[in-house]
Amino acid sequence: MQNTLKASVTFDGVGLHSGKPVRMILKPASAGHGICFRRTDIALGNTMVPALWDRVERTPLCTRLVNASGVSVSTVEHIMAGLAGCGIHNVMIDIDGPEVPIMDGSSAHFVRGIMQTGIQRLAAPVTAYQILKPVSVSHDGATATLLPSNRLTIEFHIDFAETAIGRQSKTLDLRNGAFARELCDSRTFCRRVDVESMQANGLALGGVPGENAVVFDGPQVESGAGLRHSDEPVRHKMLDALGDLSLAGGPVFGHYIGERAGHSLTNTLLRAVFATPGAVRQVSCDAAMTARLPGQGLVWAEIPTDARRVA
Ligand SMILES: [Zn+2]
Repeated sequence: MQNTLKASVTFDGVGLHSGKPVRMILKPASAGHGICFRRTDIALGNTMVPALWDRVERTPLCTRLVNASGVSVSTVEHIMAGLAGCGIHNVMIDIDGPEVPIMDGSSAHFVRGIMQTGIQRLAAPVTAYQILKPVSVSHDGATATLLPSNRLTIEFHIDFAETAIGRQSKTLDLRNGAFARELCDSRTFCRRVDVESMQANGLALGGVPGENAVVFDGPQVESGAGLRHSDEPVRHKMLDALGDLSLAGGPVFGHYIGERAGHSLTNTLLRAVFATPGAVRQVSCDAAMTARLPGQGLVWAEIPTDARRVA
């Protein structure tokens, strides 16, 4: 069945790129509502920004949603991953600024807040998107692919010149609470040279190395108390992919393969899937399908200690 939250939950933080304080409140919503942002700092006009693939303005650094009136919300991928990973299908997200708070750079705070608030079952089946034939897109040496599967599997491969990152690959079946257990505490990362160029362009102004981002500089790593996983970067890329895929409008049954892919390419992939005749169909999940959705079988005690500890 579809899920929402048992009560509202508030997250206070700063925007990674804006550096500005922001308050985000997740509120319960009824079956069929879906996930929608609402800009509470804007008094007039259409302030609703639905979390859907066709509202994405493709940007290299984060996922930004824009409505028909030009009202936007940026850096939605980590909260979208947290909601998808916990199996929350309906929520209204009130936000008093243009960018989701970065928290510790992962989805850990969001997963912790959702699980402590509690998940409410609703009396309606989940609508999911089942991939029926392979679709692949490529750009600039990166590839993103969706293959048919009866569950969601995310496979990712990265290859960085920074020796502390190097080549990393991981494949994960998202059933049985795997997102919260394996991915949710992996933080966003970048290279030192990227920080300097982003800040020169007025971006990453809220970034604090080791606090809300892991920064790699050749063999050096600024990671706070150390990396949370030896392959934390590829796990974060998988987290991003889950968040970006959830903009399909519901859970996806398919095998995603990202090779050096980013937010923009995963969105290009979703656009290609929906534009390819016979590539995807909307399904109303029966009990067997529901049991294979991310978020089913989530167990608090299995969540990484970093995710349970974050304040
Ligand atoms: Zn990310």
